[in-house]
Amino acid sequence: MIQQPGTSGLIFNEPLLWDKSRNGRCAISLPKSDVERDLLDENLTGDSPDLPQLSELDVVRHYTRLSQWNFGVDSGMYPLGSCTMKYNPKTNEVQASRQGFASAHPLSGDEFSQGALKLMYNLEQSLCQITGFPAVTLQPAAGAHGELTGMLIIHAYFAKKGKQRSKIIIPDTAHGTNPASAALCGYIPVNVKSGPMGILEPETIAAIMDEDTAGIMITNPNTLGLFEANIKKIAEIVHSKGGLVYGDGANMNAIMGIVKPGEIGVDVLHLNLHKTFSTPHGGGGPGSGPVAVNKVLEPFLPIPRIVKELDTYKFITDCPDTIGKIHTFYGHFGIMVRAYAYILSMGAKGLTDASKLAVLNANYIKESLKGTLNLPYDRPCMHECVFNDEFQAKNHITTVDMAKRLLDYGFHPPTIYFPLVVHGAFMVEPTETESKEDIDQFIDAVKAIAGEAEEDPEKLKKAPLLTKVTRLDEVAAARKPCLRG
Ligand SMILES: *Cc1c(COP(=O)(O)O)cnc(C)c1O
Repeated sequence: MIQQPGTSGLIFNEPLLWDKSRNGRCAISLPKSDVERDLLDENLTGDSPDLPQLSELDVVRHYTRLSQWNFGVDSGMYPLGSCTMKYNPKTNEVQASRQGFASAHPLSGDEFSQGALKLMYNLEQSLCQITGFPAVTLQPAAGAHGELTGMLIIHAYFAKKGKQRSKIIIPDTAHGTNPASAALCGYIPVNVKSGPMGILEPETIAAIMDEDTAGIMITNPNTLGLFEANIKKIAEIVHSKGGLVYGDGANMNAIMGIVKPGEIGVDVLHLNLHKTFSTPHGGGGPGSGPVAVNKVLEPFLPIPRIVKELDTYKFITDCPDTIGKIHTFYGHFGIMVRAYAYILSMGAKGLTDASKLAVLNANYIKESLKGTLNLPYDRPCMHECVFNDEFQAKNHITTVDMAKRLLDYGFHPPTIYFPLVVHGAFMVEPTETESKEDIDQFIDAVKAIAGEAEEDPEKLKKAPLLTKVTRLDEVAAARKPCLRG
């Protein structure tokens, strides 16, 4: 195998702590108790709990080994399309763990939370500048939650006008959460096909946009990694029938400092702080999906809202048209600290450069691999590029076989079988933080795997071969997880 980061080397087996336990082993020595035994609560004097008995080294090795089974952005390239798995500078973690931030309590009251409120206010202002909108709420806890908030705002807007609408247009290149968010608000998602270039054509929208349609949800850049270049024209069509344009801005990493969605016809937009602005995405951890709106929609934003009066910051709830609260307190504050630290440390030029590099890296991969994997939409891409397994089909090798084999070469696989518009999709998002050397290794690995598809397809069908567990029955593994190493 060519030189790659992945080796089969030291991957340890590791039993449960209870299996490692040996009577009498102990990691700490406690001072002798000076409390008389019969003074202790009855509940505490019964049988000792069944805790494993272990030395300090047993415990250290146990957790260190478990941590090494994990793969993260800090261990290697993680080109998971649509997820922006970029490296997040450690300083942002340091800022979020500062005592004043980490111990802030949401019930302390405005007076004792001026620093936290100022940070949130300033973050809102920065996101306004980046997106080109006049107002932002930081409350939603994730991208899909931001979509729901945006849809509730659209719903409230039509309710206020006195005439609710029943449908919403959703292109086939939208993120899968979009139709779900619209449906949760009672709208019927109307699917539209993108054109041969992989983007929407104004005529398609003009043909279906009517006065019973609340608007359109556009993911831009879309899930093919392409910029919806006709968005202004499409927004005009939607607006001319009284509709609104929802922008899914989870892919903002491609356009920071280059395009302001608020200036190209979008009325309401969500961002994923846990993609573009420093918090890692995935693992089910807390996220943040701020929603930005134009002036017309501002009165509907969730409460509380933060205002600045002279040099004082405070929450206000007196907003008659608000959709109400959509999260306890004010959302996930720790994620906001990371995002603010990231924005300040990058500066306007740094953010713009990050987007340019993310786009450059994706195009470099697209050009380098397009003879190796089939590229259904061969045009300049944004932050990600989407291939499929058409070239390998003659050897009965599919996308999942190649994705699994990448594990043997030391890479997290890309996103597979999404977006649905590309059959057998293999969707690569390198992000700006990977170096050319790492990207070249990834390209070499994919080329090597394509070679194996020709020469030894049987072996590829069994991949991964070097990992701790080899090919799993994924359905069974999800239902009956094996928790023993
Ligand atoms: C990730 C993503 C979402 C959903 O964000 P979550 O935080 O996972 O809910 C929505 N739209 C797009 C385009 C995305 O990439």
